[in-house]
Amino acid sequence: MAVNTVKSDKLSEKQIEYMKLISEIMEIRKRGEKPLAFVRTYGCQQNVADSEKIKGMLSKSGFDFTEEPENADFILFNTCAVREHAEDRVFGNVGALKNIKRRHPQILIALCGCMMEQEHVANRIYKSFPFVGLVFGTHSLHHFPELMYSSLVNGKRVFERGNDDKKIYEGIPTHRDGNFKGWLPIMYGCNNFCTYCVVPYVRGRERSREKDVIVSEARDMILSGYKDITLLGQNVNSYGKTLENPVSFAQLISEIDSIDGDYWLRFMTSHPKDCSKELIDAIAQSKHISKHLHLPFQSGSDRILKAMNRHYDRKKYLDIISYAKEKIENVSLTSDIIVGFPGETYEDFKETLSLIREVEFTSLFTFIFSPRAGTPAEKMDDPISAEEKSKWFQELLDVQEEIAAKRCSSMVGKTEKVLIESVKEKTGELNARTSGNIIVELNGDKDLIGTFQNAKITSARNWILKGELV
Ligand code: SAH
Ligand code: SF4
Repeated sequence: MAVNTVKSDKLSEKQIEYMKLISEIMEIRKRGEKPLAFVRTYGCQQNVADSEKIKGMLSKSGFDFTEEPENADFILFNTCAVREHAEDRVFGNVGALKNIKRRHPQILIALCGCMMEQEHVANRIYKSFPFVGLVFGTHSLHHFPELMYSSLVNGKRVFERGNDDKKIYEGIPTHRDGNFKGWLPIMYGCNNFCTYCVVPYVRGRERSREKDVIVSEARDMILSGYKDITLLGQNVNSYGKTLENPVSFAQLISEIDSIDGDYWLRFMTSHPKDCSKELIDAIAQSKHISKHLHLPFQSGSDRILKAMNRHYDRKKYLDIISYAKEKIENVSLTSDIIVGFPGETYEDFKETLSLIREVEFTSLFTFIFSPRAGTPAEKMDDPISAEEKSKWFQELLDVQEEIAAKRCSSMVGKTEKVLIESVKEKTGELNARTSGNIIVELNGDKDLIGTFQNAKITSARNWILKGELV
């Protein structure tokens, strides 16, 4: 039996009852024909997946959705705490809701997600934003109906955070935003405590959903027409360790891959310290897993990786990459990088540049270090100026642009299977995506959205490809 076995529970009958009560209240309070909710999500896909659950509960409480906060009866921001910039945007946008509340006092304004798990943030909201009626953190999702009911009937502000009961709640209804691309959470929380990162503090310890529940949800999604499914977790490579009968991520993904159908399976995020050869072999042998590995390395310098508490070094990272390149034909590699971690020198930064040149990533998510309250890195000496960090950052973008352009041009003349995702309003062109997660623009009928097609790549502009349907 695994240590720290995590218990799964079901959304309680009581919460289902609260959803009914909310729908009765909203029949009276609504401003238009139907009660309307406006839900805005900041941050990562995990937040998107949480918002889809909240929307599922709102839908069962009688709500439809609107893109216009002005028309809504309920406004919710699901917030992100990972960088200061994300937090500043939330504070700015919440401030702007004051006037809407003044015009329509019966609107309920709510904030949830990672920022709200931080005590100093919840206090600031309480003091400075009196028009926010409901605040709840990531651990309170499974009793959102009760919290919402209570703020509707009592007319008092409801604030709840720090309520981690270390469980997983199944059976929360999901209102997915897309009908062919979908997120499927397989685990929650994180145990890694990278020294810069706030996630373990705001999302709690790592816990995995039962394998059979995930496989059955994936099967339902495939049967209802989903073509591109992404399995989500902060560190998917350690999936299954907290289960009573431990299962590896490679086993989980191989079992999903054996479901019949025409679909792609993706996953994020992988952590290099736990990325096994077994997983790479599973990708190589699979029918549906996209030939794409998002493997954040954060820094190319061993000294900085140690200070970040990442538990791998440059050599181990490059060993995994060369194994992936050897086993998975034309594998597309992407990564996250932090520039300007406290104590990083230009010499360290040059090691990051040399690593990206060596690996030749398809694309990168690049961030300048942002100190987060309560993390060890917040207290580390950080002598390099913001100006200097910005220069390094620009240098990184220039190098990556060169690499991406080279990689994209090498695809010209090839034919690729693509998923047609959307239409550009201005030009009428279709946006499609390859299995390796590269965008292809092509001409075609918008009825093709949500279907797989073959596209011949005709030209490349930086990291975007142009193609034509074949
Ligand atoms: N669990 C995932 C990433 C979660 S956060 C992983 O370990 O890869 C997404 C990315 O945000 C991280 O990979 C990191 O590059 C960046 N990030 C996290 N905290 C940050 C901080 N304090 N400053 C700048 N970037 C940060
Ligand atoms: Fe944050 Fe590290 Fe956990 Fe990723 S693995 S969520 S970067 S602590």
